[in-house]
Amino acid sequence: MGAFGRVRYVLTDDEIRTALDPIIECRTADTKLTTMGAGSDALEPGRRWLAAAVEGGWAKPTWPARYGGRDASAQEDAAIGRIMREYAVPDLYAYMIGLGMVGPALLAHGTDAQRDRWLRPIASGEEIWCQMFSEPEAGSDLANVGLGADADGEEWILSGQKVWTSRAMWAAWGIVLARTDPEAPKHKGLTMFAIPMDAPGLEVRPLVQMNGDEHFSEVFMDECRVPDSGRVGEVGEGWRVAMTILAHERAGGSRGGGEGKAKESLVPRWLSDAVGDGHTADPVWLERAMEAHTFDQVASWTSQRAAAAAGSPGPAGSGNKLRSVRTYKQRAWLTTEAQGPHGMLTDTHGHIELMTAPSMSIRGGTDEIQRNIVGERVLGLAGEPRLDREVPWKNSRKGLIQ
Ligand SMILES: Cc1cc2nc3c(=O)[nH]c(=O)nc-3n(C[C@H](O)[C@H](O)[C@H](O)COP(=O)(O)OP(=O)(O)OC[C@H]3O[C@@H](n4cnc5c(N)ncnc54)[C@H](O)[C@@H]3O)c2cc1C
Repeated sequence: MGAFGRVRYVLTDDEIRTALDPIIECRTADTKLTTMGAGSDALEPGRRWLAAAVEGGWAKPTWPARYGGRDASAQEDAAIGRIMREYAVPDLYAYMIGLGMVGPALLAHGTDAQRDRWLRPIASGEEIWCQMFSEPEAGSDLANVGLGADADGEEWILSGQKVWTSRAMWAAWGIVLARTDPEAPKHKGLTMFAIPMDAPGLEVRPLVQMNGDEHFSEVFMDECRVPDSGRVGEVGEGWRVAMTILAHERAGGSRGGGEGKAKESLVPRWLSDAVGDGHTADPVWLERAMEAHTFDQVASWTSQRAAAAAGSPGPAGSGNKLRSVRTYKQRAWLTTEAQGPHGMLTDTHGHIELMTAPSMSIRGGTDEIQRNIVGERVLGLAGEPRLDREVPWKNSRKGLIQ
């Protein structure tokens, strides 16, 4: 080690390609685009890719090698992510709560035993996770969560309802935000737990979305028992753990694979897919498409720069979410338009994305809530009036009717 410390060896782009070539197919003109699980319940392609990738730590490069990562720096991680888009990485939607949100939260707040138990099965695709935060009257106002957890010796007893739980029916584990102290103000009486989704007393009821998918569910818990070893973070610190998870979700943690462009190509798949009924020859359509592509490209570089600088997303992840929602909607609309009347058929990808697009402004926190976060926590503007911050939760409207 010299005066300037150890210089870390960073893989070159070609070395990354050489490692990925044997385990994953390169994109071709025929590779089909699929994002956010829209219109697809296929779990197997993702599971196969993760099982192959975990040996070299390629799916979660920054995680420690013993948990299925490769101890990569943020710079190396960004390079791997950029090159990965040349490959036909399957849409990992079903796996992303574990990979992009729960995993980082366990690294930040979990115990060694929890990391040893849960991280590698997340990285290898063996175990899918779901996120049980939202409830009726606790969506935008998430700190209003009422699902209760009562201590009983070395166990906790959980009872109540969650809603909009994506992938609940596929999940082996759920991360659940629960109220452990109704006497405390709403942000302070919360604790985070991990619960097996086959726990006695837990029922999952799938809901149908307007795009035809059944990817989210109501979840009911009736005296479900969780050992104290399933508590993630300290008692009363659930809000802090929830914020780590949500910051990662908003910075892109729930998106994975599916998109990209062919090797050596400058054109992303959604653009090269957009052929039909002469729209792609229309100069006005092309101008709008290039505007969307440029915005998308700048947004992607901005989030890569933010990730490389900060390591952890923080409130600025909300800006990333707003930009990616805008791109998703524009792209869905342009692709549908390019396909003309054919684009109205429900089995075309553009149409499925068009029917999925409104949900992008809601899931992970609505656009309005993201703007509040950017305004208050990034730009330092005056906060909204919040009259219930110091009131015991049991005296709030939800607390009183619970
Ligand atoms: C496809 C999809 C998947 C989801 N997956 C999950 C999941 O896996 N796990 C999970 O826990 N949740 C999930 N959700 C739930 C999602 O996080 C909530 O729907 C979201 O936070 C909004 O909460 P809400 O539906 O209760 O709406 P509300 O909070 O009732 O909001 C209604 C409207 O009021 C506006 N509003 C509310 N408060 C304010 C304010 N202070 N300032 C300005 N406007 C405001 C909102 O922007 C919105 O337009 C999912 C939702 C969708 C659509």
